[in-house]
Amino acid sequence: MSSSASLQSIVDEIVAAMAAETERGKVATYIPGLACVSPAHFGMAVITADGALAAGGDATMPFSIQSVSKVFALTMALGKVGDQLWQRVGREPSGNAFNSIVQLEVEHGIPRNPFINAGALVVADVNLSGHMPRESIGELIRFIRFLADDETIVVDDAVARGEAETGYRNIALANYMRAFGNIHNAVELVLGCYFHQCAIAMSCVQLARAGRFLMLDGRQPEGGCVISPRRARRINALMLTCGHYDASGDFAFRIGIPGKSGVGGGILAVVPGKASIAVWSPGLNESGNSHLGTLALERLAQATGWSVFSARA
Ligand code: GLU
Repeated sequence: MSSSASLQSIVDEIVAAMAAETERGKVATYIPGLACVSPAHFGMAVITADGALAAGGDATMPFSIQSVSKVFALTMALGKVGDQLWQRVGREPSGNAFNSIVQLEVEHGIPRNPFINAGALVVADVNLSGHMPRESIGELIRFIRFLADDETIVVDDAVARGEAETGYRNIALANYMRAFGNIHNAVELVLGCYFHQCAIAMSCVQLARAGRFLMLDGRQPEGGCVISPRRARRINALMLTCGHYDASGDFAFRIGIPGKSGVGGGILAVVPGKASIAVWSPGLNESGNSHLGTLALERLAQATGWSVFSARA
């Protein structure tokens, strides 16, 4: 990609195009704190490997990162238990809804991957072991603040509370896995950690900053190793294969870069060696991914040539 000035003009064009879109998807209503967010929002932030930032729209407005938090929680859990994690969580796309319980029965309580809810609950259980819930969520927040180099990132407690009051499916999933012995801590504590991690609020700029280590083979831009290059590669691989619910294949086909989306309408996307990107628009498409966020990433990939499948990238 060329200069940061031309990257900013690409972002400006995308922001203008998204503002003009009339079809904006549907905001998730099953979590009380998300139902009242306006679908009019759109934000985008792109940070390149040389540290340049191009941003536009609502790029500095915090939103509920929801399942995007699964990337950071997974990174932390791998740091704690390493490859042992894979005895408790798989690495295959699920082909089922993100909150599905069906597969768990035939697969003996081992979730398909760490990015569906069941898998993220196991990851939250790993991160909780040996800690009080408050310490565990504090550790995750501190990790994300460190990655983003931003001490202002916080949990939106109202969103966490709202989900705790209505999250019956997640409550069922956690109990079901506990019955298989794949949740080790008290179910209500694991759920509390999970709901709080999903309720972390971040802006696109903060999220793109937090994702930089994944574009830099596990290193922070200032130097310092967060994870090994091999682990960064593997997390990116999981984002590509499992990061967009049941539409992960379509996202790889259309956009061709690893990404993780959340029902708050955020997507973190990583072009290894090139860019860390965050987009946010709360309206979701029928697969539960941000409608405009996906369109915007598709346009960005086209304009820059970024793709993990292309020699041009
Ligand atoms: N907290 C949400 C849930 O568990 C996260 C879902 C998502 O973003 O995919 O339902």
